[in-house]
Amino acid sequence: MVTILMPVYNEGDYIYNNVIIVDQLLEKEGIEHQFLLVDDGSRDKSWAELCRLANDRQNVSIIRLSRNFGKEAALCAGLESASGDAVIVMDSDLQHPPERIPEMVRLWREEGYDVVEGIKADRGRESFGSKLAALLFYRTFQRTTGIDIGIASDFKLLDRSVVEAWKKLPEKNTFFRGLSAWVGYKRYAMPFEVAPRAGGNTKWTLRSLMRLAVNSITAYTAAPLFIVFWLGVIMGIGAVIMTIQTLYNFFSNQADPGFSTVILLQLFIGSAIMISLSIIGLYISKIYDEVKARPRYLIKSKRGKAFIDKD
Ligand code: UDP
Ligand code: MG
Repeated sequence: MVTILMPVYNEGDYIYNNVIIVDQLLEKEGIEHQFLLVDDGSRDKSWAELCRLANDRQNVSIIRLSRNFGKEAALCAGLESASGDAVIVMDSDLQHPPERIPEMVRLWREEGYDVVEGIKADRGRESFGSKLAALLFYRTFQRTTGIDIGIASDFKLLDRSVVEAWKKLPEKNTFFRGLSAWVGYKRYAMPFEVAPRAGGNTKWTLRSLMRLAVNSITAYTAAPLFIVFWLGVIMGIGAVIMTIQTLYNFFSNQADPGFSTVILLQLFIGSAIMISLSIIGLYISKIYDEVKARPRYLIKSKRGKAFIDKD
């Protein structure tokens, strides 16, 4: 049994059809499956549509979060209750081509891969700006964490054992793509073409993407703290040189023109301190989040039988 896990946020207009399309395709291929749809606090008719699906289809289970917690949290909620022998995570807007699922299942069943991850062969229709930003982010992520998520996507198949391993990780600030690479296991990278959206617009805003980028880097590495350290060392060497120069000027009675140097120094040191403090602050806020140990999401209601017994 394979669980198809989809996060749903304001996809009311087409979610019903999209699920039916995937359902019919898998039925035709003879893949035993069930759906687990997580409504991430949608404000449109998504929940009503999910209920309609659960009524019409035996194999559809649905979860509703109490508000919009974000895609990562929705995936967490789904993974924690998914009961299949494998879980396939995919977007509900069909940008992840369902025709590739049979191949994923085959790689898992017959070739024994624990993780089959979709790799974007081409990033689909995206502006130059967002392509550049994605490239910059992945580079930084790889350099600082040593985990190569490259052109990774959230389209993947996870074996039961991987899901169980992931559930044992206690942290709150996760980055799904990074984490599934971090757990290791036998992985297979399957290229796919990103399809255009089935309708509507992307749910990401610049702000939510920035937050995801900062979160995912700080969740995996303390490298920015080391950058600050080296910045401090360089500033220190500069300060020593400036001190010698200033002392020389002072003793040779030409102190006045040095005024501009002082201003420059003030600015440089000021900015270095600001950056350092903000980075340290980021990590402290991470610790604060973890220490609070608040749940990543709250479930408002649940229907269906795709759930694993928790206790
Ligand atoms: N999504 C979600 N919560 C959010 C934003 C998005 O569950 O706060 C879901 C959305 O319904 C879709 C998937 O995450 O199934 C990917 O979202 P979207 O298509 O907007 O992102 P993009 O494809 O542009 O990266
Ligand atoms: Mg999409």
